[in-house]
Amino acid sequence: MIANIKETVSSFVEDTTRKLSLAQYVNGVIEEVKKRNKGDEEFHQAVEEVLKSLEPVLDKHPEYIEERILERLVEPERQIMFRVPWVDDNGDIQVNRGYRIQFNSAIGPYKGGLRFHPSVNASIVKFLGFEQIFKNSLTGLPIGGGKGGSDFDPKGKSDREIMRFCQSFMAELQQHIGPDVDVPAGDIGVGGREIGYLFGQYKKLRNANESGVLTGKGLNYGGSLARVEATGYGLIYFVDEMLKEHNHDLRCKKVVISGSGNVAIYAAEKVQELGACVIAMSDSNGYIVDEEGIDVELVKQIKEVERKRIKEYAKRKAGAYYFEGQKGIWSLKCDIALPCATQNDISLEEAKLLVENNVIAIGEGANMPCTNEAVNYLLENNVLLAPAKAANAGGVATSALEMAQNSMRLSWTFEEVDAKLKEIMINIFNASKEAAKEYGSEGNYVVGANIAGFLKVADAMMSQGII
Ligand code: GLU
Repeated sequence: MIANIKETVSSFVEDTTRKLSLAQYVNGVIEEVKKRNKGDEEFHQAVEEVLKSLEPVLDKHPEYIEERILERLVEPERQIMFRVPWVDDNGDIQVNRGYRIQFNSAIGPYKGGLRFHPSVNASIVKFLGFEQIFKNSLTGLPIGGGKGGSDFDPKGKSDREIMRFCQSFMAELQQHIGPDVDVPAGDIGVGGREIGYLFGQYKKLRNANESGVLTGKGLNYGGSLARVEATGYGLIYFVDEMLKEHNHDLRCKKVVISGSGNVAIYAAEKVQELGACVIAMSDSNGYIVDEEGIDVELVKQIKEVERKRIKEYAKRKAGAYYFEGQKGIWSLKCDIALPCATQNDISLEEAKLLVENNVIAIGEGANMPCTNEAVNYLLENNVLLAPAKAANAGGVATSALEMAQNSMRLSWTFEEVDAKLKEIMINIFNASKEAAKEYGSEGNYVVGANIAGFLKVADAMMSQGII
């Protein structure tokens, strides 16, 4: 009996000591990242969130520690930063900064969007590139992680100015990308129009019609059906699957969506198709409330066709209201919250409001829309949380389907692509669920997605040696 107790105590002590030293090791890697990437707050946040969730994996697989997989994973394979000079409509010279971070190519060519927004800096591009590694891995398709962009502000620019900027941006970027090297796409501020100008310039400079070099292209020059809808639709397929797992469904649920860009619009369209009611959407100035359910066609007309602000909606739709301010939208009572705008949209304060209002689920359509404190608070309060890496992977997954069609020189129907997207999203949900269960965090899809995404990349890195 005493021997038994002694054994139990000593194995408990051994276990606790091992866990402590694992936590110390992981904290050490995080501290090193902070030292090497001074001031890159968003990047620190993304690294901390992922690395901390990997402790149980390292416990089971010490070989990842021996091979320094974490230390290699947090260091981008290549970072490119360049000048983007262009001439505005007044004939004045403007200078912006361009970025492309080729983060990890263990499982395929670098893949990830370009963001054009005044807030873009090295930290933003690094955090997005880092997230992309795990997201792309989760799709089950052969794509590595990368991201890029510029601090160029497309707001208020003429079509010609956008074109000249894109041409200058591509004049530099073209030498670093290619269909088997690095395949950019859209993100905030980069949609079909920008991809068109970027593709035209790549083709001219390289004298090569390599359609697989960019995704999100127009349908008449190599684009894929359903790519425009994919991120928003994919988010809803994931959330639907998660709700079903916990005996809920979308019917008659009140939904609040932040943002009114590509992800938000198609998430709203799909969630309403499945029986929910979207009562609010926003942009960076304010939000609209329409208790009857948002008219998505009207939002498309205002945002996609006219490129105007969301407050236009309240002017044109009876019974709809507009409120100034970005974050007030999270004080509205809803069952499901879909942050589809940008990073750190929901901090602890907004998370508390959502919990107070009995939110059931949160689906992250944007990249890293919840702060780490918000994520922890939501999970502690049993909110179902669909993490961005998993839940918004439908966009990049469909980009990989676009690449596949480009390689075959043929195109699939909308129904075929949409069916594949749905299957991919269900697979991602199941992979996140299984990984969470296997590593002792059942029902925590944040941890599950990180682990499932990590394992594939880590194993590929192990196989390929120290490069
Ligand atoms: N920008 C999107 C994302 O965050 C899509 C990237 C792509 O299609 O390559 O995943």
